[in-house]
Amino acid sequence: MSLSSTRIRSVEFEPLNVPLLEPFVIAIGRLDQVRNVLLTITLENGAIGYGEAAPLEPINGENQATVLATLKTLAPLLVGRDALEWRKLSAELYGLFSAQSAARAGLEMALLDAVTKTMRVPLYQFFGGVASSVETDISIPIVEPERARELAAGIAAEGVRVIKLKVGSGIASDLARTVAVQEGAPDCQITLDANQGYSAPDAVELLRELFGRGIRIRMFEQPVPKHDHLGMKFVTEQGGVPVAADEMVFCAADALRVAATGNANVVNIKLMKSGLVEGMEIAAVCRAGHIRLMIGGMIETKLAMCCSAHFAAGNGGFDFIDLDTPLLLAEDPFEGGYHRQGGLYTLAHIEAGIGCWPTGRSPGYLKL
Ligand SMILES: [Mg+2]
Repeated sequence: MSLSSTRIRSVEFEPLNVPLLEPFVIAIGRLDQVRNVLLTITLENGAIGYGEAAPLEPINGENQATVLATLKTLAPLLVGRDALEWRKLSAELYGLFSAQSAARAGLEMALLDAVTKTMRVPLYQFFGGVASSVETDISIPIVEPERARELAAGIAAEGVRVIKLKVGSGIASDLARTVAVQEGAPDCQITLDANQGYSAPDAVELLRELFGRGIRIRMFEQPVPKHDHLGMKFVTEQGGVPVAADEMVFCAADALRVAATGNANVVNIKLMKSGLVEGMEIAAVCRAGHIRLMIGGMIETKLAMCCSAHFAAGNGGFDFIDLDTPLLLAEDPFEGGYHRQGGLYTLAHIEAGIGCWPTGRSPGYLKL
């Protein structure tokens, strides 16, 4: 193919606002509506790549307004460049806007969607083709125990095998909710995510109380604040369950610190924290350091979740999959994407790219 055919003709971006079915409450705040950004990159050859930036202020300090402002600066830098030089472009973006990770992730997503549509390969094969499906957990937010029990029973009835429970509201409250989930879905495994909501001793105390009730959770995610490295180490050593680093890992160097210090057993990769290229670097560091891999997301629509499913399936080696946020949305503004059955997302039917596009617009494939 000629170089000019993969030149970037345009980079467009616009608000992507989607109402939530009900307010989503985690330890760090409450959300009523998702306010993300949709990116569209068109190449000279006609391939269209779609990307999503999903900022979450308390996690990465970005919101819709900062993403739109960042893209106003970054988009013109990409126009006229060759999309096949995606690693080089990614490094330039990182050099200029390392902290604006959601904006960079959206650009990289759109870029690789357009590149793989040009190559006519689905994104999971581009990443290595290790698998063509992933099996996600489904999350339960901080709600009353009765509600948690109902939600758990409904999730189990759908055939989902892992429930991720948000905690961080205090030992007594979290204990009651976890017990209720176990009762509502006795055959499901449970992971906990405190979103930094615990002190290390309290996190270990919660686990001991759960053991005392016969509940051994599968994994405990980010129990303590992100800068509390010794606290993470304490929970990892004393808790008796795998501990995952989420908010404390944004780049490969952060992952290397986890591996070198033994502060956690698992790293949660989210494309919105690292971007796609740095996400691959994190995965490589974790593999070398015997750190298990998890993939998660912010509050994302099907577009970004489908991209993450490609990432985890194609790269392989992800033991923990947490890609359920489209289920929290009152609307699905996209066509295509993974096929879902219970917690299983399959991608095998996707012909090229992410395979997910905004409703009513071109899928963006190349004409044969
Ligand atoms: Mg988390």
